Amino acid sequence: MGTMTIGEFARASRLSPKALRLYDELGLLRPVRVDPTTGYRYYDPAQLERARLVAWLRRIGMPLAHIRDVCELDGPAAAQKVRTFWARLEADTATRRDLAAFLVDHLCRKDTTMTDTGTPLAIRYAALSDTGLVQESNQDAVYAGSHLLAVADGFGTAGASAGAAAIDTLKRLDTDGIPAGNLLNILEDTIRQADRAVRDIAGAEPSPHEVGTTLTAMVWTGSRLALVHIGDSRAYLLRDGELFRITHDHTFVQSMLDEGRITPEEATTHPQRSLLLRALVGGAGADVAPDIRLHDVRSGDRYLLCSDGLSTVVPTDTMCQAMSSTPDPEYAVRRLVTLANRAGGPDNITCVVADVTEQRQ
Ligand code: MN
Repeated sequence: MGTMTIGEFARASRLSPKALRLYDELGLLRPVRVDPTTGYRYYDPAQLERARLVAWLRRIGMPLAHIRDVCELDGPAAAQKVRTFWARLEADTATRRDLAAFLVDHLCRKDTTMTDTGTPLAIRYAALSDTGLVQESNQDAVYAGSHLLAVADGFGTAGASAGAAAIDTLKRLDTDGIPAGNLLNILEDTIRQADRAVRDIAGAEPSPHEVGTTLTAMVWTGSRLALVHIGDSRAYLLRDGELFRITHDHTFVQSMLDEGRITPEEATTHPQRSLLLRALVGGAGADVAPDIRLHDVRSGDRYLLCSDGLSTVVPTDTMCQAMSSTPDPEYAVRRLVTLANRAGGPDNITCVVADVTEQRQ
């Protein structure tokens, strides 16, 4: 059986001899023979396949410890590992992209958002919360003011109080005194306070870790729009006739979708589709990790915040149609709640609709 020298093997696998020595030391790719006197490494041509796999995995930036795991798995399991790694990397990149966009914006823009014609922007809004047709009480909470829009969907024995406490904490952001440059820090602090308020409420219940709330909110400083989100309530943007979802559900089903384990069709009927991975919740240990990001704002944009009582029963194209065909936010929220109730209203339904408009002097 012909073995290859490390030089030959390096050329054939496109890995450098130096990399091959490292992979040997790490147990990633052991030579078949090491000459006891010279220390030269020899490889079997059959090892080329594994060497190429290692080289490819390095090229997508996978850490060596992960590569070792992938090499030990069979095809489908290895594929799943690569898919998971890539999904995490993309999620991480998306977070950093948002932060980079914010920094660019922060460094080169004046503090006041103006349209092309120099007119300042303002928001026009309406909110509506409805118990629906099946639940006995409404555990959703909502707030809409000229600087703050917020939706919370409480769950557990004190769900209504949990949602209300979170929104109550956020209310202090409904002021025009927030310096745009310090917005992200202020949001982080406020969310931490909201989390503490929810924990206090949950702590008085028999099963604290089953009591909590989602929270999806927008803060408008007069020049910047920030989005805070944890859980499975949602924010959408209607722009140029298209409805974009701008939040990511923190649910078990969404994470399985992200990793390609289930299809979007399977997600809509999955038995555990309401299982939350993140929320403001009681019990010890859990660290609150909301998504916080800045959004660019244009005159004519229409935003929708809603609880899952709307988004799980009304299809996105129906929501888009209702959002596009109702000039007045007040009418839009009523239309959306009606649609959810027509679809059976199995859950509490809460909507906030806000239009970005040019401010009249
Ligand atoms: Mn709900």
